[in-house]
Amino acid sequence: MEIRIEKAKTLKEKPDFSKLGFGKYFTDHMFVMDYKNGEWQDARIVPFGYIPIHPASTVLHYGAEIFEGMKAYKTADGFQMFRPYENARRMNNSAERLCLPQIDEEFFVKAITELIKLDYEWIPDLPGTSLYIRPFTFGNDEALGVHAVHNATFVVILSPVGNYYAEGLNPVKISIEHEDVRAVRGGTGYAKCGGNYAASLRAGKRAEEKGISQVLWLDGVERKYIEEVGSMNVMFKINGEIITPKLTGSVLPGITRKSCIEILKDWGYKVSERLISVDELCAAAKEGTLEEAWGTGTAAVVSPIGHLFYEGKDYEVSGNKIGELTQKLYDELTGIQWGKKPDERGWVVKVRV
Ligand SMILES: *Cc1c(COP(=O)(O)O)cnc(C)c1O
Repeated sequence: MEIRIEKAKTLKEKPDFSKLGFGKYFTDHMFVMDYKNGEWQDARIVPFGYIPIHPASTVLHYGAEIFEGMKAYKTADGFQMFRPYENARRMNNSAERLCLPQIDEEFFVKAITELIKLDYEWIPDLPGTSLYIRPFTFGNDEALGVHAVHNATFVVILSPVGNYYAEGLNPVKISIEHEDVRAVRGGTGYAKCGGNYAASLRAGKRAEEKGISQVLWLDGVERKYIEEVGSMNVMFKINGEIITPKLTGSVLPGITRKSCIEILKDWGYKVSERLISVDELCAAAKEGTLEEAWGTGTAAVVSPIGHLFYEGKDYEVSGNKIGELTQKLYDELTGIQWGKKPDERGWVVKVRV
């Protein structure tokens, strides 16, 4: 499919790249295409702006929406992306679960590549900065009946983002949630969809009011097994072994998670993807065998956990400092993503501009 390009008549002023924060600024253009009569059509790059939406649109009433989160990094002669075909595949898995139309994986990457080429000047070049890419698809039938959608819209927007950790890698406080649940097996937990986030906001707000940055979810049935953190997967180093919750269907299959597992195995660590109960975790923290804990996700890459709160108790991890392995993993992964370390596993897609 051809991509029609309509350039913005006036370009926006760029923000100060040293004060970007996360997801606050957007580039000059966006990619849009519509799904009608059983096929994607009118692929176009247009000036960034509002999307007109019918008041009865499916997404507004029944939450038919999926998204992806990925990053592009500036290089000497263009930019590079980290495992974009993994995002394309996951987006299609999410689409299958929510009965939204899938997108050809090559075309998904091509659409993003063409958009970034046009807004290339927006990729920040300061250390730790990148261009965050947010592709999303939403159901867009203009009727209130409940059924799998016939019409959908796919959009890609771009946002220059700063270093997640302005003052280095600071350990975060995490509260283990025992009331609300995020997802259940058979539900949409493994799909990257807006609805999962809607269900998580209340617990997140309660934690925030106590000065705690994120929530660690337990499984939705027994509320016994660790699942994941708000927008990150989670890993623990207990007695030298790396343990991460297995993908049971209610956990989002993170690409950072997958990459960390591969790197850790290459380094000779024993990595177990298995069920881990909150009791096992708290016992390890009490006995001092919980050596390190960290979250993994595209936005923060690797995020050390310094405190775990559960049922009124406060468990400190690694003396509230970043663990040695957490730091090593962060350096390795960001090194590959920023092009400062060799890409031995063929994860990086380079584009010349
Ligand atoms: C996106 C996301 C992650 C992390 O996935 P990455 O591919 O590593 O960015 C983890 N949990 C949830 C709920 C997510 O939405």
